Amino acid sequence: MFDNKEKTNLNEMGEFGLIQHLTQTIQLTNESSVKGIGDDAAVLDFKDKKTLISTDLLLENVHFDLRYVPLKHLGYKAIQVNLSDIYAMNGIASQVTISIGVSSKFPLEALEELYAGALIACEKYKVDLVGGDTSTSTQGLVISVTSIGYAEADEIAYRSGAKEGDLLCVSGDLGGAYVGLQILEREKQIYLENPEIQPDLEGKDYIIERQLKPEARKDVVELFRHLHVKPHAMIDVSDGLASEILHICNASNLGCKLYEDKIPIDPMTYETAREFGLDPTVCALSGGEDYELLFTVPQSDYDKVKNQLDISIIGYMTEPAAGQKMISKSGSEHDIVAQGWNAFTKKD
Ligand code: ADP
Ligand code: MG
Repeated sequence: MFDNKEKTNLNEMGEFGLIQHLTQTIQLTNESSVKGIGDDAAVLDFKDKKTLISTDLLLENVHFDLRYVPLKHLGYKAIQVNLSDIYAMNGIASQVTISIGVSSKFPLEALEELYAGALIACEKYKVDLVGGDTSTSTQGLVISVTSIGYAEADEIAYRSGAKEGDLLCVSGDLGGAYVGLQILEREKQIYLENPEIQPDLEGKDYIIERQLKPEARKDVVELFRHLHVKPHAMIDVSDGLASEILHICNASNLGCKLYEDKIPIDPMTYETAREFGLDPTVCALSGGEDYELLFTVPQSDYDKVKNQLDISIIGYMTEPAAGQKMISKSGSEHDIVAQGWNAFTKKD
């Protein structure tokens, strides 16, 4: 991964020097950030708003593979996937902390890349990096991100809030991140067999970006405010559509009808899935990592959402006894099952 250009050994820097170096350019931009890095704890002030907090832990070779994930992208994605959880509550993210466990095989320059990516994401989404922790690791790179945000009490969208008859909607398109991963995995195998061969990613930019550089849907939360829509229930699509639908159904104690032909799938995702011999619908249902928002709205909001190009109405919520069903393109009805990682033999 790292070439032999001049590199700075982390051991020479010391923990304090490293933190100082990585965070020296950070400036706080949000009113709620009273004190950031530099004391024993950050100080935040959300006045009369509710505080939202979410944490993710990312482990090398479990959640990411440094053989094809550039560190800058990893830093960016680590922030995005975590902010996505705040947006999934219909909140606005305002701060993050980043903790890293890193072995001395990493030069300083590698961590600079990681932080460069993380800070680009923070800047783009207007969140302040207000703290973290730093340690050595003997077992690969460890990254933990915590994001903090806020919402009015009555704006918060819980998984449990769906009502019978609600429209089931999703933002963007699905399955792309999983199909993008298949391309990266294929090129990794080719590279391992013959390092002379350059990766062939030609024409697949969109789905590779979906995998390496996902975008949390802050814009959708802002759209809700603009349209005066309050989702009854919401969740982000990290494990695949099927699993997320079942989370909403179970938490809300409801059934649902999902229409296969309404699931939004980008043409590039569709064609590439076919090239790999995969069913595009299965990629959307079980692939995961799309970080779109899945939500329900009352039928009275139909006029507000129906013409939004980036929102698809994919079904509706039913009484629990009707079960959780997908109506296939041929019209037959199937139980929705959360296969997640088990759906594909390639994914561990
Ligand atoms: P403590 O001993 O209280 O854990 P540290 O020396 O670890 O303090 O941290 C000093 C400051 O630097 C704190 O504000 C902490 O949040 C911040 N910090 C530590 N590690 C990181 C990191 N990896 N990224 C961002 N901020 C960090
Ligand atoms: Mg510490």
